[in-house]
Amino acid sequence: MSEAASSQRLLNKVCIVTGSSSGLGRAISLAYAQEGAIVVCVDLRPGARQEIKSEQEIETDVLIRQQGGKSLFIKADVSNAAEIEAMVNAATAQYGRIDVLVNNAGISIEAGQKALKIHETPEQWWDLTMSVNTKSVFLATKYVVAQMLRQDKLASGDRGWIINISSIFGLVGGKHIPCYAASKGAVANLTRQVAMDYAEDGIHCNAICPGYTATAIFVNTTQIHDAEEIRQRHPLHGIGMPDDIAGAAVFLASSEARWITGAMLPVDGGFTAQ
Ligand code: NAD
Repeated sequence: MSEAASSQRLLNKVCIVTGSSSGLGRAISLAYAQEGAIVVCVDLRPGARQEIKSEQEIETDVLIRQQGGKSLFIKADVSNAAEIEAMVNAATAQYGRIDVLVNNAGISIEAGQKALKIHETPEQWWDLTMSVNTKSVFLATKYVVAQMLRQDKLASGDRGWIINISSIFGLVGGKHIPCYAASKGAVANLTRQVAMDYAEDGIHCNAICPGYTATAIFVNTTQIHDAEEIRQRHPLHGIGMPDDIAGAAVFLASSEARWITGAMLPVDGGFTAQ
């Protein structure tokens, strides 16, 4: 175990991570477990998406336990209120409290399709994208915050940490991604709103805005778009790795983020600095 990995910055914190079976959610779940967290893995299914072969070898929650950590898998569709309420109740029944929520699950229908502008975009893409990427954040935050408010504050004065995975396209426009950009822009400003409403309760709410990162979504994207052109659009050149996002997610759930709430943190190789 590396020095950073053994620092136990999240020791015994109960952390819910949505979309935990693949990509960024998987990397965040594994990084949290390395930091000593108890990880509640939430996804539509325990196994990873097909596109990244290495993710399919072992399920995230099983890998955490194999490495000596604590984890639980709960199947839930993040866009379904009843399933999310039941998930939060089950996690609380199992571990007694919720300290961290990472709203990570998301889709990019437009990534795998021929580029379309808004006048060509099917209405169903809008409804599904807003439901999975945005309504999901409303729902999980609603039920988790209700639980956090029932808990005593920790000795630090904090009561909980919410981390939303927005996107560079929550901060700036992209090309031909009207549904995705709208969904992530809404997540960015919902982050600020939740930060404002619960600061006095000791609940932090921040967002990470990743640039293009090597997950199944990027595989889908590069079936349509030129991978090299995308790499060149990031000033640091190349694309992010899931661990780059996981590192930021650890920081924002740790005591090092004591004075941070309502922030949008780009982890994007400089994409939004241009
Ligand atoms: P991914 O497709 O690799 O993983 C997403 C996971 O979410 C999958 O395991 C999937 O099963 C799960 N999921 C999808 N819909 C769900 C639902 N309704 N209920 C529960 N789980 C569901 O994607 P990723 O690249 O890891 O993306 C994770 C998040 O990061 C998304 O919100 C995405 O928009 C955001 N993001 C990704 C990139 C990128 O380039 N990869 C860039 C910026 C933001």
